[in-house]
Amino acid sequence: MDRKPLIAGNWKMHTNIEEARQLAAAVVKAAARVPDREVMIAPPYTALAAVESVIAGTGVMLGAQNVHWEGKGAFTGEISGIMLRDIGCGMAIVGHSERRHVFGESGRMINRRVKGALQSGLIPVFCIGETLEQREAGQTMQVLENQVRAGLDSVALTDGGQLVVAYEPVWAIGTGKTATEAQAQEAHSFIRGLLADLYEKNIAAQIRILYGGSVKPDNIDILMQQNDIDGALVGGAALNAESFERIICFQ
Ligand code: PEP
Repeated sequence: MDRKPLIAGNWKMHTNIEEARQLAAAVVKAAARVPDREVMIAPPYTALAAVESVIAGTGVMLGAQNVHWEGKGAFTGEISGIMLRDIGCGMAIVGHSERRHVFGESGRMINRRVKGALQSGLIPVFCIGETLEQREAGQTMQVLENQVRAGLDSVALTDGGQLVVAYEPVWAIGTGKTATEAQAQEAHSFIRGLLADLYEKNIAAQIRILYGGSVKPDNIDILMQQNDIDGALVGGAALNAESFERIICFQ
């Protein structure tokens, strides 16, 4: 089953509007050199409009860093999928480890966000991953299973392209410690099995599973050679044009 690789950049709470424009222009240039893969960038909300004007018509996709499940209402500080579609987003990151661990988002809340994204026509980039303590206690697969089952509870899909999963071990995010390619492949293959349990075979086989956690120019190639790694969700290295260009152009 062919899954088009996806390289996604999560800019978190970084970049002013001018920096965002410049970084987006560099991403557009790099992405044009490798049409066999998809590229998504998720700037802060304040730069979505500026980035959209740079990437419009280029094939680079716009992503949001979160999404609320309601279309509108009294939800101070939140942004709806309808609003994100309106500004040009095609994807939204959901359940990022910073949302789970810094902001206390629960599996149930993340499940609502996944459904909200789908209802508004956004592709959720649904993030899961274990902490260091959980890995050291031998609980990795159980944690991943619990997160997948909670986050995707009653999430119906008619096409595997409607969902992206990102495996991001919490201990590897922003720490400079990457999972080895074997550790990542083991987790991805386990997640692929869980998806096959939840969805029809052909749908599960189409769902892309990204690896995230200190992805850099010097580890992207080996990660992308693993059977079940379909792309990368990149934080720190996505803020540097040269690094992200090299990651987009993985071999
Ligand atoms: C992330 O925030 O999703 C991430 C993977 O960050 P970093 O690449 O900096 O580890």
